[in-house]
Amino acid sequence: MPTPQIVRTIDDLRSIVKEWKGQGYRVGLVPTMGALHHGHLSLIEAIAKHCDRIIVSIFVNPKQFDENKDLDEYPREEQKDLQALANTACQLVFAPSPREVYPNGFTTNISVGGLTETLEGANRPGHFDGVATVVTKLMMMSSCDVSIYGEKDYQQLAVVRRFVKDLNLPVQVLGGTLIREKDGLAASSRNVHLSASERKIAGNFNVILKQAIADLHSGLNIKETENKAIQALLNIGFSKVDYVSIVDPESLIQLENYTKGMPARIVAVARIRTVRLLDNMAV
Ligand code: AMP
Repeated sequence: MPTPQIVRTIDDLRSIVKEWKGQGYRVGLVPTMGALHHGHLSLIEAIAKHCDRIIVSIFVNPKQFDENKDLDEYPREEQKDLQALANTACQLVFAPSPREVYPNGFTTNISVGGLTETLEGANRPGHFDGVATVVTKLMMMSSCDVSIYGEKDYQQLAVVRRFVKDLNLPVQVLGGTLIREKDGLAASSRNVHLSASERKIAGNFNVILKQAIADLHSGLNIKETENKAIQALLNIGFSKVDYVSIVDPESLIQLENYTKGMPARIVAVARIRTVRLLDNMAV
């Protein structure tokens, strides 16, 4: 199967989308930072039911990285990504340079309040400003009708839903199920940074979160459940736990008490060496 067409400028992107819209096509956008895995591909499959043409953007967005080392080391594998997209419903890849996205003199920032003050927002200063700014720009550049974000980045999905509503952007926002590896580890571009022994440790993340959910269901209180999970992660070989939090699934506010049947989400970030791993599950 041929690889999809790739464009690098906003002008080229716009002229293709204009043609599509002229034919009455509904356009879908799947924003990614590349190093594509089956989690990304599942988003393409999911959005295909909601549109006629699919654009995958590949852009490692410097504005959403709070650590330069993380940005420098982020995997970039464009040729492999194009091959991975060859067997999918994606028609067009948009892979702009940082200069194309952020021209000289760029100073505008989209900043979402409330939701971004906790969890990833509290742990990664400026991260969600970077995400909200680039996603708004990608939506504007592509004139997409629908766009999809994975539940792997649960807070990011909530933030995108928020600013799309607040700014009246004419885009339908979809959420995609979190895709896991065989042992339950959330698929992530960062997993390639794990050595074989670290990868084994990482496989325990989801098991420990499932245990935390079982603990909650059997009556352990929220603080004890979170602390027990943190301790279990450290005991099994994680270097640091940024947080394990049981939150309201909509507002992402930390819950104080849990009673069975209550809507709740467990969200967690733990590190093995410098590799940050994210996971979350419905309670
Ligand atoms: P990224 O390239 O990591 O910025 O991710 C691009 C999109 O893919 C985001 O909407 C992510 O939430 C989504 N994504 C990444 N990993 C997964 C996964 N394991 N399952 C579902 N969606 C994912």
